[in-house]
Amino acid sequence: MDPDDDPAPFEAEPQCPDCQAALESGGRQAISFLLVDTLTVPVVGCDAHLEEFRAICELTTEDSADLLGHLPAGGIQCPACRNRDQSGGMPLVFVEAGAVGVLACETHATDTIECFKSGLQTRQQLGANGPF
Ligand SMILES: [Zn+2]
Ligand SMILES: [Zn+2]
Repeated sequence: MDPDDDPAPFEAEPQCPDCQAALESGGRQAISFLLVDTLTVPVVGCDAHLEEFRAICELTTEDSADLLGHLPAGGIQCPACRNRDQSGGMPLVFVEAGAVGVLACETHATDTIECFKSGLQTRQQLGANGPF
């Protein structure tokens, strides 16, 4: 028999099966690169949720946020990000039903998550048409 109840290694898992598959591969197969402001961070997730993630991060910058499917021309500037050991798990950013894994060093993962959070706030304010 093959019990289907193995305990989840994460606190929570994305509902999106495509994100799950991408995350389970540990980013070895499907790394994309998010370029926003001065950050260049490798990220893992399905196309739809990566795009959502990018769009939300873009709200925090006056420039555009870009998502590349290959290593950017300038490479990754931060040596700690470049050498990050991907076997130790990665912080997850939940984007609606999906999740994006951030394969950066702690500093840049935190920066990326902050960027996403403030983008979300901006979007809520835009969408809510607020009580002002
Ligand atoms: Zn997804
Ligand atoms: Zn870094």
